[in-house]
Amino acid sequence: MSCLMVERCGAVTFKRSEQNAIQVRMLADGRLSTGHAGVLLAERRGSYPLIDLRILKTSAQQGEVESGTRRKVKRLLSFQRYCHASRLLRGLVPHTPGSLHLLDDDYLGQAAHMLSKVGTWNFDIFLFDRLTNGNSLVTLMCHLFNVCGLIHHFQLDMVKLHRFLGMVQEDYHSQNPYHNAVHAADVTQAMYCYLKEPKLAEQLSPLDVFLGLMAAAAHDVDHPGVNQPFLIKTRHHLASLYQNTSVLESHHWRSTVGMLRESGLLSHLPADISQDMEQQLGSLILATDISRQNEFLLTFREHLDNQDLDLQLASHRHFMLQIALKCADICNPCRVWELSRQWSERVCEEFYRQGDLERKFDLEISPLCNQQADSVPAIQIGFISYIVEPLFEEWHRFTEPSLLSQTMMGHLHKNKARWSCLRCAHTPSDVQAHSHADEPNPKGGGGEGENIP
Ligand SMILES: [Zn+2]
Repeated sequence: MSCLMVERCGAVTFKRSEQNAIQVRMLADGRLSTGHAGVLLAERRGSYPLIDLRILKTSAQQGEVESGTRRKVKRLLSFQRYCHASRLLRGLVPHTPGSLHLLDDDYLGQAAHMLSKVGTWNFDIFLFDRLTNGNSLVTLMCHLFNVCGLIHHFQLDMVKLHRFLGMVQEDYHSQNPYHNAVHAADVTQAMYCYLKEPKLAEQLSPLDVFLGLMAAAAHDVDHPGVNQPFLIKTRHHLASLYQNTSVLESHHWRSTVGMLRESGLLSHLPADISQDMEQQLGSLILATDISRQNEFLLTFREHLDNQDLDLQLASHRHFMLQIALKCADICNPCRVWELSRQWSERVCEEFYRQGDLERKFDLEISPLCNQQADSVPAIQIGFISYIVEPLFEEWHRFTEPSLLSQTMMGHLHKNKARWSCLRCAHTPSDVQAHSHADEPNPKGGGGEGENIP
């Protein structure tokens, strides 16, 4: 290419004067540097600590995977920023969410109409995402921050807020069937519904609402579409960085902190306040680690049994925000069937893709990731029985009397019955082969976070 090109892909600005040049400059301090043989090493913008985006370590002593294979896996599984840069360097137009300005007024009018009903449980986030041209998360968050009075209360700069939300939305992987920005928007909308529950709403401070919505919006940011056991067995650097514990959740949190600092959204607040907000965000996001499900469930149940929740205490309100976020994160089976079914198929598709990768690279196929053995109905029935029902029964107890909780429990039972019918439609031998999916598998199973039945 003869002329000098300056292009921008999300937060990555890069410059090249010739086709083979690989020099990418991040907007902030991060940078992409030239690797040999076309291997691009990237540092994430503003992440603390800075991390590169290599999916597998390449040192020779970790020779579980052949070097050529490692390169292929790296290309297939690289995190979002690497993908963007890689696509640009191959001359492909990157996927970036379109501008609202490209939309016909009719679409914006319909999106605005939907926002007027954002607190209703049958809110169709898929439709809303289409109407906002893929900007559901940014649009929803701006609206909720506005109606909750958070912009005024925290004196937020709208430009910085928009920039921060744009970065968060963009760092979700649109190619993930499930862990993408629409899931984040869906969880945020559910969280908003839960924050409005009278039992909570009467006690929550503006800071609580701010943290609840922010944590929901960012709780899966930069999710690679594979689970923690996969990152551990492929010796991903994040697994060692976070010592194989809450690897993804830690990454989601630290990425969020990086973007908060880069956007300067909280820079006008005293340092101790903004640091406290970052810590509380971390505590909320880390609570979505499904391996801690029993810990939270038992504590929640104990509080309800003892009737000792005092929501005037900040620590108890924080605990309830953790519970509300956990509920929001796994609320798919509590939605109306048509929405619920779509999420179920998407999450299973993500599992199966992981299984396909594991098969391709001769890795052991994770539980629930084998499309031939693990059917969608079987996965969903296990998920509902062992994860969703126990938590929502307690949530129902906490919020009682709540119309929303009644509605959710109604959908949950109907959806479970429907999956049972669909599973019965499989051949008896299939059912027998799949029956293990009903067994609880809380740790090291096939799905990350909200997905392990
Ligand atoms: Zn999630």
